[in-house]
Amino acid sequence: MKILLPIQIIICTLAISGSAGCSSESQEANPQESKASSSALDLFMAGALAKDVATVDCTLSDGTVTSCYEITVSGTPTNHQVGPFCPRTTSATEDEVGIWLDGENLYEVTGQFILDLPTIYNDDNWMLHDGEGRVRVTETKEAFEAAARPDVGAEYENYCVEGRMEWIDGGKPITTTVQIPVSPVSKRVAIPAQAPLGVTFNGVRIDAAAPVDAILGAYTIAAFDDCGGHVNPFEGYHMHAATGCGELGDAAKGEAPPFAIAMDGFLIHSTIEGGDLDDCNGHTTDEYGYHYHARSPELNGVLTCYMGAIVPSSRSGPPGGGRPRGRPPHGLGPPSGGENSAAPARHDHS
Ligand SMILES: [Zn+2]
Ligand SMILES: [Zn+2]
Repeated sequence: MKILLPIQIIICTLAISGSAGCSSESQEANPQESKASSSALDLFMAGALAKDVATVDCTLSDGTVTSCYEITVSGTPTNHQVGPFCPRTTSATEDEVGIWLDGENLYEVTGQFILDLPTIYNDDNWMLHDGEGRVRVTETKEAFEAAARPDVGAEYENYCVEGRMEWIDGGKPITTTVQIPVSPVSKRVAIPAQAPLGVTFNGVRIDAAAPVDAILGAYTIAAFDDCGGHVNPFEGYHMHAATGCGELGDAAKGEAPPFAIAMDGFLIHSTIEGGDLDDCNGHTTDEYGYHYHARSPELNGVLTCYMGAIVPSSRSGPPGGGRPRGRPPHGLGPPSGGENSAAPARHDHS
């Protein structure tokens, strides 16, 4: 994995409270839980939003009638490239490839990883290379779409699966629109997370856990780039694991900077060790109020639940034009017995 240094960004807060200021490190201490959201819009990086944020009426999962931000992210990370994903040869090294994570371990998808698959998963049917040093990778849109479906045809078993932005219908990134409460409403009880879990300040949707069992069951590796994202035909670039890309500024000792906002309006910070986190990986600090920390990347899934109320049926994808909603094309549907049961039936095999 390449070392990705967090971009130092000056965070300018124009809080609703009237206090305005810029800080490169911290915001003023305020235990109010709704603080995070009031300045959250200022945290998005230039180019991360596909359109201006609107404030709309919304009804949350607990019946609260309130105001929500309607946020449309661009669907492409503004501060890092997409990929690389799969190795091309069995001698490919860390800096040429992305990562794989299976809920227990995080791997660099090096050539050696490809060679080691029968050992790693204790199954001699693994053979993602041709025996002569070449790795079998989905090199065309057709191959990618066939290999990315839940019922992978036998001809696309034993492939390293990667999608390219230019294979997305229309050749453009797919935007995601979400409604997020302006003022988070804490429920203090875990609400199962559903995709998208939130959006990142560099313009990407965060998906639920990747359907690892279905992917491995087809002898495929749906590689992620070093930032924990990959491309599928429906959502474009999306992320399943937070590896420290797109963080804002620095954080105090024992803390980590934020990189995203969750669907309930609380911020998501990078992974920390310890920290006495609750069931949803959140806690309250003087500096940040209530916020989440991303689960460690190898665990597959940035969050598993929310502590705040969400808008029940948050829209995703382009509100008009773009791909039709409903059933995905090409019969690509949700994996059987796949990811989070609370996830909408929109996510594909990758
Ligand atoms: Zn924290
Ligand atoms: Zn995915």
